[in-house]
Amino acid sequence: MFDVTAIRKDFPILSRKVNGKALVYLDNAATSQKPRQVIDAIVSYYSHYNANIHRGVHALSQEATDAYETARRKIQSHFGIAKPHEVILTSGTTHSINIVANGFSSILSPGDEIIVSQLEHHSNIVPWQMLCKATGAVLKVIPMNQEGGLNMDAYQELLCSKTKLVFVNHISNTLGTINPIEFMTQQAHRVGAAILIDGAQSCSHIKPDLVALDCDFYVTSAHKMCGPTGIGMLYGKEAWLEKLPPFQGGGEMIDQVTFEQTTYAGLPHKFEAGTPNVCGGIAFGAAIDYLNTIGFKAIAAHETTLLNYATEKLLAIDGLKIYGTTKEKTSVISFNIEGIHPYDIGSIVDKLGIAVRTGQHCTQPIMDFFNISGTVRASFAFYNTLEEIDLLTAAVEKAKMMLS
Ligand SMILES: *Cc1c(COP(=O)(O)O)cnc(C)c1O
Repeated sequence: MFDVTAIRKDFPILSRKVNGKALVYLDNAATSQKPRQVIDAIVSYYSHYNANIHRGVHALSQEATDAYETARRKIQSHFGIAKPHEVILTSGTTHSINIVANGFSSILSPGDEIIVSQLEHHSNIVPWQMLCKATGAVLKVIPMNQEGGLNMDAYQELLCSKTKLVFVNHISNTLGTINPIEFMTQQAHRVGAAILIDGAQSCSHIKPDLVALDCDFYVTSAHKMCGPTGIGMLYGKEAWLEKLPPFQGGGEMIDQVTFEQTTYAGLPHKFEAGTPNVCGGIAFGAAIDYLNTIGFKAIAAHETTLLNYATEKLLAIDGLKIYGTTKEKTSVISFNIEGIHPYDIGSIVDKLGIAVRTGQHCTQPIMDFFNISGTVRASFAFYNTLEEIDLLTAAVEKAKMMLS
């Protein structure tokens, strides 16, 4: 049923050449490629019903509003969210996190504690540091271990009555580690803390059920799951979203405006100031439809095959070390070859048409933990193939020969 050759035909970019070679795209953790179905949704919107939404009585405006609100409901249903107005459409994960961080600035008191993990993306560290600076709250860090997992004993010891908020990514973008978010959510709630899950890396691999998970907030970016850039979402439990103040002021987010006072619109509009990314929202919905047509079970099965095959092939290269070796991990492989700079490997494999990422992957604390300057990261999606992994392995071997 899962036919990778047929699936690849949905992605126009996968048939292009780079440096005279067929493109092998293995940078999916940075952003995913887009299928024709999503590109068509974008073209169709701008060709047929581009209009501003929620304000016009004219036909185009109503069509655009309907399509945008239909997309919101697709997102709601995909992520297992109880109410459509608990889905706030944002410009992406970073924007969503900043809405929550800004909101908590009116809740936190000096001495309150926020817990983040050592595996976080920079976008998940900096807003909390800014928040702590502004409120006098204290940032605590859940330490990682040699395998690239989080130390759950240390996490439980950090939790206390002062903890107001816990932030953790579902999956590490650098190591592929899948964190035990069910357990972490239960434990946070045990001390009355809220928990925010960064789903930017998991959304393309795992279909979550947020009501069952019971997390307080969940954020993600459409571009990591076959949608366009510039659109993403913030899920928050209704009670939390009612409690947090708005992030930005502007049109769409108000109820009554006078120069003395403004009252805010209800959810979700309170957090959606200004003209939204209408096209992006609609295309986000198209991406969700596309992924569900393939099915997340089939996606996970194929990606596990790719991960196991690539791990075995790469480890056969002498001097190659993989970072991130937990049992629960997704199809991301971060590696180095002894004595060779990751950037040099990345440059040589690029000449052979292979796109990998090199550097710190926005996670300097992980690099510091392993005492390295960076890694080469190959991240696989459901449209990658075993043949592409053979090409990667051969290219890395060639790079090694040229550089050592
Ligand atoms: C990509 C990513 C982000 C940042 O997402 P943006 O789309 O750049 O806002 C945050 N966290 C993780 C785990 C990511 O993979």
